[in-house]
Amino acid sequence: FVNAPPDLNMLIEAARDHGDKTFIVEGDRRLSFEDVFLLRDALVPELQIKRGEHVAICMRNRAEWMVAFLAVQRTGGVAALVNSRGSPEELAASVNGVSAKLVLADAERAALLRDGGYVGRIIEADGFPTEGAALSEQPIASPEDPCAILFTSGTTGRVKGAVLSHKNLITGILSMQMSGLMVLHNMANQMGIPVENILANMPQQAVLQVYPLFHISGLGAAFLSPLFAGTKVVILRRWDAADAMKVIQEEDITQFTAVPTMLWDMVSAARDEGADLSSLRNIGTGGQALPVNLLDAVREICPQAVMGTGYGMTECSGSVAMAVGEDFVRNRSSAGRVLNLVDMKIVGPDGEELPQGEAGEIVVRGAMVMKGYWNNSAATSEVLSEDGWLNTGDVGYVDDEGYVFIVDRKKDMVISGGENIYCAEVERVMNEIPEVTECAAFGIADERLGELLVSVAVANEVSEQKIIDIVGEKLAKYKAPGRVLFLNEPLPRNVVGKVDKVKLRAMWPEMAGEKA
Ligand code: ATP
Ligand code: MG
Repeated sequence: FVNAPPDLNMLIEAARDHGDKTFIVEGDRRLSFEDVFLLRDALVPELQIKRGEHVAICMRNRAEWMVAFLAVQRTGGVAALVNSRGSPEELAASVNGVSAKLVLADAERAALLRDGGYVGRIIEADGFPTEGAALSEQPIASPEDPCAILFTSGTTGRVKGAVLSHKNLITGILSMQMSGLMVLHNMANQMGIPVENILANMPQQAVLQVYPLFHISGLGAAFLSPLFAGTKVVILRRWDAADAMKVIQEEDITQFTAVPTMLWDMVSAARDEGADLSSLRNIGTGGQALPVNLLDAVREICPQAVMGTGYGMTECSGSVAMAVGEDFVRNRSSAGRVLNLVDMKIVGPDGEELPQGEAGEIVVRGAMVMKGYWNNSAATSEVLSEDGWLNTGDVGYVDDEGYVFIVDRKKDMVISGGENIYCAEVERVMNEIPEVTECAAFGIADERLGELLVSVAVANEVSEQKIIDIVGEKLAKYKAPGRVLFLNEPLPRNVVGKVDKVKLRAMWPEMAGEKA
């Protein structure tokens, strides 16, 4: 491979050298790196896939998901990572939508796909071959070849399939690892000791995998990064805080990245029952605005762990900004500093670069930026410019120390009576009201104002009027929601824990007692 251009296979093959170290733990199953490679080798000939052809992977997190991904890479094919939580129709639409030649599915999803009307080829995970000959052919991809299609979360509308090349994914992972190294060096500097000493005292790394593998946050941080680094990955198939704490203790988990809701679950479980979380060294969260008290609550149950957060998106193969440790503690409302290898600027409505500190749309450029959306050139040209800048659709600013602050999504800006209101700002203030557990704000059509800002809250014993008054006092009056309705169950959220405003909007008329 020495002179080969960098494709994912080069890094994957190198991981075989981790040999009989444990790679995957799933319930009672323990697979070494070599075991996983043997399973991959056995699966490759069964696929009968040629370079550039699409293979959909459609299963819950499990060892076979990872075997499937590695096998597809080895053929030079493109892995389309389907959201396994979808309905039969959604699953079939994703698979058909990417023109998959083949689906690798677990039994449950295979049945759902058939129910959804999918008639193509499926190989079921329980039927993956366990023995086969060593592979003879060399991997054949080039860096610019697509290697995966990942779907966005659909927070602002319909999901889009981001086509990522080998170069995109490798750069995404590399830029995050580089920033990890910088943190290590800074720590060593502050402590006045050589980095080698920190490394020598570092425990064997082990990752608890709770993010779905089909989402960029799971794929990069909880699968490919550990694969390349020789790190054990422990799969938790269903989120349960008590199970997670048990596994953390039994498997000496050092790294855990989770959505804020999961971290809250863990905080309350640890407060109630107590738990030995002393093995944890890194706890990460991100991908959405963070509740203000989360950092303190996690530090209380796990004081020795370094906490981190980031800002990123599917289209950028992962994070483009990160804050870890002191950086996060000092500046907790920031999403961190821009990562190495990423260019970022803040632009105004006409694409002009804005002066430092001013809020505008965040645009980014670099080798981590996707090739485009699958089969959707209109959506692609809306976000990707000729010279490689990606419009993120997010509004933010960068302060004079280089910290990035996310204000809100452009689409979550409500224009009410000619005034701009950012939903995220209203949500932040509402979340500070002690009785409010969760909330979401959004705009609905209004004859007089154009749009009316409204919100849904999960709360105890607080009146609609009191919430409206508090927001109107803490922010400008026009930012107070016109209505606040209460929900007696948790807010609907998607697989990565983001509030599903599409669903909330659909629920609104009934909640408000209006005729749909
Ligand atoms: P869709 O593009 O289909 O509407 P999505 O944007 O939620 O869905 P993802 O790629 O999973 O899909 O999420 C990326 C988005 O998540 C970012 O563009 C940004 O809006 C939001 N986000 C990510 N990190 C943060 C953060 N630290 N703070 C606030 N928002 C964040
Ligand atoms: Mg998006």
